[in-house]
Amino acid sequence: MYSLPKLPYGYKDLEPYISEEQLFIHHTKHHKGYVDKANSLLDKGVSKPLSFNLAGHILHSLFWENMRKESGDPEGRIKEEIEKNFGNIENFKKLFSETAVSAEGSAWAVLVYEKFSGKLLLEQIEKHNLFLYPESKILLILDVWEHAYYLDYKNEKAKFVENFWNIANWDKAGERLESAMG
Ligand code: MN
Repeated sequence: MYSLPKLPYGYKDLEPYISEEQLFIHHTKHHKGYVDKANSLLDKGVSKPLSFNLAGHILHSLFWENMRKESGDPEGRIKEEIEKNFGNIENFKKLFSETAVSAEGSAWAVLVYEKFSGKLLLEQIEKHNLFLYPESKILLILDVWEHAYYLDYKNEKAKFVENFWNIANWDKAGERLESAMG
């Protein structure tokens, strides 16, 4: 059975970039909905809806860990690999933001370590389960479904994406990279 993880911070801790109300509803209604639905489908072995709800649960669990109260800057291996693959941190942020803003409909912007090429790549995951790169390790992920920002930002998705850089957890992205690269 799957269970809703506790957030690694309080509901108010990401303000003013994500409000208490927005974060509370996103976690306790939307994410919990995927957990409950995935659990109800587990025994039935129905692959398509289970794929959607299970991926929804897992991506949200990764997303919560990818934020924290104050962002800081990438350091160590994650910094080196981003510079190697994207030139510099500013350019990476620009490309990641473009990936997020240009995603159509319900989607995620994701930085992954793709082990077969050894490269860091950007991807847009539509819904929760379409256009995933198989076996890639998710390093940094941003939810750009409307339910992630609409209460706070209305139609201003780009502003939400820009503010993500104030609360992105680079240490967690670095840890995931270390464990993927060994
Ligand atoms: Mn969401």
